[in-house]
Amino acid sequence: MESALILGAFHFWLAMVTKQDIIEGLRSIGLERGDSVIVHSSLSSFGRVDGGPGTVVDAILAVLGDEGTLVVPTFNYDPGIFDPQTTPSVVGVITETVRKRPDAFRSKHPTHSVAAIGRLARVLVEDHEKTHPFGRGSPLFKLLQANGKILLLGTDLTTCSMVHVAEEIVEVPYLDRQRNVAIKMPSGKIIRRWIRRPGCSRGFGVLEDILRERCQLAETKIGACTARLVRARDVVEAAVQMLRDDPESLLCSLPDCGTCAEARAMIAARQTEEKDREVTELSEQEEQTIRLIEKQFENVTIEPFEIAKGDNQPN
Ligand SMILES: [Zn+2]
Repeated sequence: MESALILGAFHFWLAMVTKQDIIEGLRSIGLERGDSVIVHSSLSSFGRVDGGPGTVVDAILAVLGDEGTLVVPTFNYDPGIFDPQTTPSVVGVITETVRKRPDAFRSKHPTHSVAAIGRLARVLVEDHEKTHPFGRGSPLFKLLQANGKILLLGTDLTTCSMVHVAEEIVEVPYLDRQRNVAIKMPSGKIIRRWIRRPGCSRGFGVLEDILRERCQLAETKIGACTARLVRARDVVEAAVQMLRDDPESLLCSLPDCGTCAEARAMIAARQTEEKDREVTELSEQEEQTIRLIEKQFENVTIEPFEIAKGDNQPN
């Protein structure tokens, strides 16, 4: 409470952030005219913005120009009954502002929809409801193909949903968790469906140091907000590399996280399965070898060679 008061007072003394401040800040970290960019954001991180969330959206669009595309997550997580027309985004007021713009297109995925404005908007949001939240054909997967960028306004890599695309590409063993959701169709009819539930993102912060070391993360301050820009391809490349080395590498280690505990169990189960398959394949090979040898002799049965267990060996 006390720290909130001090923080509040601190914000009060900060100069009001203007549209021009934001435009200049974004250009300084490499956001350019014509870019396609997904923005993860916290309005309060700026301190005070002259004109509020609309100013942040206008500033981004001014940098992108008519040729560019702005994408924001409009996730609702807890499904309830998803209505693409009315279900609000729960990931910040900037995302809600974009969703409500008359020129915005929103995808119809029942838990992880996005809203987009600009040249690629329609293409990106199309058919999201037919695929997994971050699978092939999802808006973020398409944004990766379009060589898009990721802008983090006052948030860190734990909000970077593009990392889930890397999990899909690697096909990590913990992808296929399901949840049941209700969706309101344009006709007004309510249908129920089982869909994939993405994992926890609280461990994604480990990517930050890697991207910084590779000089792929551009950073600046806009008011009190730390703004970061990175290419989607750089994030996915780094994440794929980590996941291939160790499928647990992007899970969080928070003691209360049941999702990551479940993910670890799924990884272990997959490894056991693979080991079992290997053992079966090996014993089939051995059997074949013995049959081949037997064929060379008449009426001879060969006992397979086994190492005798010593007395002191554990059973
Ligand atoms: Zn977790």
